Amino acid sequence: MSEPYDGGPVAALRRIAFTLERGREDTYKVKAFRGAAAAILPLPPDQVAAAVADGTITAIPGVGASSATVIEQAVRGELPDRLAALEREHGGPLAPGGGPLRRALRGDLHSHSDWSDGGSPLEEMAFTAIELGHDYLVLTDHSPRLTVARGLSPERLARQLDVIDAVNEHLDGGFTLLKGIEVDILDDGSLDQEVALLDRLDVRVASVHSKLKMDAADMTKRMVAAVRNSHTNVLGHCTGRLVTGNRGTRPGSQFDARAVFEACAESDTAVEINSRPERRDPPTKLLELARDVGCLFSIDSDAHAPGQLDFQVYGCERAEAAGIEADRIVNTWPRKRLLEWANG
Ligand SMILES: [Zn+2]
Ligand SMILES: [Zn+2]
Repeated sequence: MSEPYDGGPVAALRRIAFTLERGREDTYKVKAFRGAAAAILPLPPDQVAAAVADGTITAIPGVGASSATVIEQAVRGELPDRLAALEREHGGPLAPGGGPLRRALRGDLHSHSDWSDGGSPLEEMAFTAIELGHDYLVLTDHSPRLTVARGLSPERLARQLDVIDAVNEHLDGGFTLLKGIEVDILDDGSLDQEVALLDRLDVRVASVHSKLKMDAADMTKRMVAAVRNSHTNVLGHCTGRLVTGNRGTRPGSQFDARAVFEACAESDTAVEINSRPERRDPPTKLLELARDVGCLFSIDSDAHAPGQLDFQVYGCERAEAAGIEADRIVNTWPRKRLLEWANG
């Protein structure tokens, strides 16, 4: 006998995708389920039930065999086998620690949609952030020079801001999708987007994505200039290291971390604790240095898929271990305080 399930087929498919993503499964496995959820979302439930009854569910474009089984079981009011298996495998807590700090977070300042190199539409990112209990999510798609990640031209970013307005109009005001960018720090420390557009954003994360092996003195100058830029609110994944994962590993950039963190502290720029398991950036020694220098922090998921928004607990665990108090973490702040800080 299967367990009863009353969430319906769309919720079952979305939960499967979410669970796969937070479990760090390959995104190609996830695509089918997200595609099927999107395909049946606009259909009336009795039409989906009728398609299950007469065996034509896979005739709906976007619904493949494994999604069809999930839909059939959910329509019959049974917990889909695939969902039950995934809940057993990936549904539990991601990290043993970090819980109290995670519960103190009100939002996430670093996330990507399919406008750049993320896997899902921005509204799906917003819905999942709501489900995770956030009051706000900053969408921070990439900037123009990062062409491998489909960085947004000024025109595309301007269009995205209109879409974000439209999404927020459909929400009740309890949650806000905030306008942001992960802007590349160029070789000379300047930021890779037009000033007039940076001015229109709520929060700006600045990150190094190119010439990571630049010599330490030049890299220090570059990063200090970027964090002192009045538009910069958060220094993203400061070393750029990769410690695990399918992109391989690489050592972090070399720079005078004390000088960079002192510049952050002086200019009120938060140092990001990047929660992605393959980044764990900054490394512990640098995290403790930033703590001792007096920096603010932002614990970010850097999610490229909705389920990855749940990665934040990894960063919370590290911040707790480093003894960083909640009030120094800007995304524990209410939205109003956050926006005043970011645009003060
Ligand atoms: Zn980045
Ligand atoms: Zn990012």
